[in-house]
Amino acid sequence: MISITREHVIAAAHRLFDYCGRCERLHGHNYRIRVTLTASAMNSLGMVVDFADVKKVLFGALDEAWDHRTLLFSEDPLCGHLQSVLDDDSLRPVPFNPTAENMAAHLGTALFPEAMARAGMEGVAVAAVTVYETDTSWATWSAE
Ligand SMILES: [Zn+2]
Repeated sequence: MISITREHVIAAAHRLFDYCGRCERLHGHNYRIRVTLTASAMNSLGMVVDFADVKKVLFGALDEAWDHRTLLFSEDPLCGHLQSVLDDDSLRPVPFNPTAENMAAHLGTALFPEAMARAGMEGVAVAAVTVYETDTSWATWSAE
């Protein structure tokens, strides 16, 4: 098994729902996202997948979904309030509390595989996703 890893940075706001602590306040991070892709065999160029395609396909979908957005759990009352006053698409309700753990799992099981399927990237799988909230705090989802 061979793998490649690429990183990308997005900016997003969030708050944790039903949480007691500083992260219950609306605030933002420059999230560093690290994705590892695996393939059982390399392509004819000797690649798992072109790093440029990782940027275009996976991080393009990530940018569209979450970059410079506000991520709120759809059950968070603030979500409904903001939806009623925002007239743009900056709010992105998510079906989970937006912890780094849940974000990594969502990227690894839904957003990235779905973007790869749409782009016809075959023979490649998402092996791990790490979401850094800060340089010292991160969560990792892995397929195994
Ligand atoms: Zn936070």
